[in-house]
Amino acid sequence: MNELPNSYVSNRVLKINVGFLLSAGPGHSHDTAFDVPLLRVSDDLMLDFVRGPIRLSRTAAGILVQGHLETAIKSECYRCLDPVTYPVTVRVEELFAYPTPTVAEFSVHEDGILDLAPLLRAEVLIASSSGLLCRPDCKGLCPNCGANWNHTTCTCAMDDIDPRLAGLKKFLE
Ligand SMILES: [Zn+2]
Ligand SMILES: [Zn+2]
Repeated sequence: MNELPNSYVSNRVLKINVGFLLSAGPGHSHDTAFDVPLLRVSDDLMLDFVRGPIRLSRTAAGILVQGHLETAIKSECYRCLDPVTYPVTVRVEELFAYPTPTVAEFSVHEDGILDLAPLLRAEVLIASSSGLLCRPDCKGLCPNCGANWNHTTCTCAMDDIDPRLAGLKKFLE
């Protein structure tokens, strides 16, 4: 990746103080919106941007988060390792439990902070689980010399031998 790591926005922007909603009681809600450039969600997930509305609703069980976020993953093509920006739309509808029960996938912290980072990370990784490619027909890297077949050709294929004989060739060497 070319960007300097410190050009990313910290994932602190995903931490929302919902203390006022918790004390307002069930039935109250708060609408907000994200418009964040280059965001570091976690050590293994960088997003090009995050945009879209979020509604936080106080229920008896905690805070219901509903949102429709447009984002794009910044990563590497898994075949050729070139940088890719992969658009993802994330629809969120998730309860953040409060007070925190012993077992809950997501919960509001004791101090009234609701951290969207783990949820966003999970949703984005699900949406991109089919694998990130720079383009659908990415040719990948030569397993022999590492040349990027999208940009160049190499001569390895010329002295290719039948893979069924590869083991024999190794044996004879
Ligand atoms: Zn590629
Ligand atoms: Zn090669």
